[in-house]
Amino acid sequence: MIHALPLQPRQRQGRNGARYSNLYQRLLANTEEPEHDAGCWPWTGKRGGGSYPRFNLWVPGLQRRVTLQAHIALWTWLHAEPTDIDEFYLQYRTVVNSGLQLDHLCVTATCVCPDHVDLCTPLENIRRRDDRRALRHHFAKAA
Ligand SMILES: [Zn+2]
Repeated sequence: MIHALPLQPRQRQGRNGARYSNLYQRLLANTEEPEHDAGCWPWTGKRGGGSYPRFNLWVPGLQRRVTLQAHIALWTWLHAEPTDIDEFYLQYRTVVNSGLQLDHLCVTATCVCPDHVDLCTPLENIRRRDDRRALRHHFAKAA
């Protein structure tokens, strides 16, 4: 479900927001301001394969730069509330390695709004996509 009243990006700091606001602000700087409360946060930064938003991050514990998917990073940041970049990266890897996927409920691949993605199994993700296709087909025929 898309939340009825998602918070605005600048209100979504988390309890460690002040200390680690650099990454969060950096990610937000790569999005367009939502035009209304339920609006998408379109990514204006780099895109990777499948046109998913990406960015590079220096991870102190690894002593190297890694490439992360922005919508997973923002979702992880706001749900796990890491205390530092190393912890954040571990949480990010946990989400990626869980085998679960972040389904874009708003069906906008460039959107990084954490309220617009939902953690689900790959099967559920495919089922939802099929449901949406069937619905589009249904309305196309009706028109
Ligand atoms: Zn969206």
